[in-house]
Amino acid sequence: MPTPPFAVISIRAFKPAWAGTVGILAIVIFLLIAQPTLIPADAQLDGYVIAIDPGHGGRDSGSSHAGFSEKEITLLLSQAIAEEIQSRGGIAILTRTTDTDLWDQVTYQEEIEYTKQEYELDQQLGRKIDPRDRGIALGTRFPPTYRLGLRARILTAQKHNAHVLISIHTNHYRAESAKGAVTLYQTHSLESRQLAAAIQHYLKELLPGRAEPGISPDNFFILRRSPVPTVLVEIGFVSNKHDRKFMLSEAGRQAIAKAVADGIQDYFRHLAAWARY
Ligand SMILES: [Zn+2]
Repeated sequence: MPTPPFAVISIRAFKPAWAGTVGILAIVIFLLIAQPTLIPADAQLDGYVIAIDPGHGGRDSGSSHAGFSEKEITLLLSQAIAEEIQSRGGIAILTRTTDTDLWDQVTYQEEIEYTKQEYELDQQLGRKIDPRDRGIALGTRFPPTYRLGLRARILTAQKHNAHVLISIHTNHYRAESAKGAVTLYQTHSLESRQLAAAIQHYLKELLPGRAEPGISPDNFFILRRSPVPTVLVEIGFVSNKHDRKFMLSEAGRQAIAKAVADGIQDYFRHLAAWARY
């Protein structure tokens, strides 16, 4: 079908003098609005180092239910999360890739030294001191073995200059009805709380729980002692049928990985926005 001639005539005939300016403005506005989509979708975590810690491992199995142990599920989940991060241009550091407890990575003497330094810092900063840390620093208590493996995870994150550390766990409760994701954050860190809220925002859509907001401060060793913003994500309950099935399915793990990565991405985007003010 030929183009109707009146279309050309009408544009020529009624084009006002300011049409050119409006056109340029429209392009500028379009570019401003469209800008986020101009960043390639696969580069949104570009430049960020994210340490992912599959909780437990080796002699430390974590909780178990119906023949599945926490250490196996956390490794599978963490590997899926790491792949998702890499696909978005981020650098994912896994604190373990095999079934190991990492207890041989740090000696008791080294752990005592780290604890002494932290104890002194706690005193200087006027921080609340954990009685276990005080005991180890003052020599009245010996570090428990599992603590060496936890220290190794923190050291791995530090060695790679990770921007954040995400420790992956699963929950367990005697009542099968308990379900849903819970994210724990560092009492002393606002960044940690923001990161927890960002991750939980997406995870709770997949694994809804009963309690809101689903994030809470905690004093677990890895949260208390990690110098980078750290969260501990209890992805779901192994003791709940729905949560367990979801975490053990390939599709479920992909969705969980996407949710965690979306949360991390939101956190960094907000951090960048705050830094501009
Ligand atoms: Zn755990």
